[in-house]
Amino acid sequence: MALALQSCSQAQTAKKVTMSETNKNNPVYSNSDSAKVELSNDEWKKILSPEVFHIARQKGTERPFTSKFETSKEVGTYFCAACGNSLFKSDTKFESGCGWPSFYEPISKGSIIYTPDNSYGMSRTEVQCGRCKAHLGHVFDDGPPPTGLRYCINGVILDFKKAEEAKKNYEKNQ
Ligand SMILES: [Zn+2]
Repeated sequence: MALALQSCSQAQTAKKVTMSETNKNNPVYSNSDSAKVELSNDEWKKILSPEVFHIARQKGTERPFTSKFETSKEVGTYFCAACGNSLFKSDTKFESGCGWPSFYEPISKGSIIYTPDNSYGMSRTEVQCGRCKAHLGHVFDDGPPPTGLRYCINGVILDFKKAEEAKKNYEKNQ
């Protein structure tokens, strides 16, 4: 009997490891739920990878020219890596040469929050996820038409889904 119990608990431990590897341990992640997410930093720390946590909750900045999304031209949608909120469409992405993925327009007004940022002796506007307030990057007014804006976003905090994949997920959830 004791032996049987032991093997059972071992199997459960193994299962848990697999789940965290596929990032299924983030209960707030959703590409369709628009309800606001408010968690403490301790709670975020448990469900985000250290890289995403550093950018999202500690306003970190990834090293320039390190994101695979910086030069990507794939067609699809960019989501918040912390909560799954849809942020940018690939057709509003442009090559700014600044070293971070750049967009000229968010998907909707509510997908982004704007906050004045006067840190490091600069006057900038910080952009945060409209659903979970994760730090995304900054917005500048030297972008291309039609908006003239440049949303300079850390690639670490972006989650990309190709157009076909997103459509499949959408239909599955109907
Ligand atoms: Zn978010």
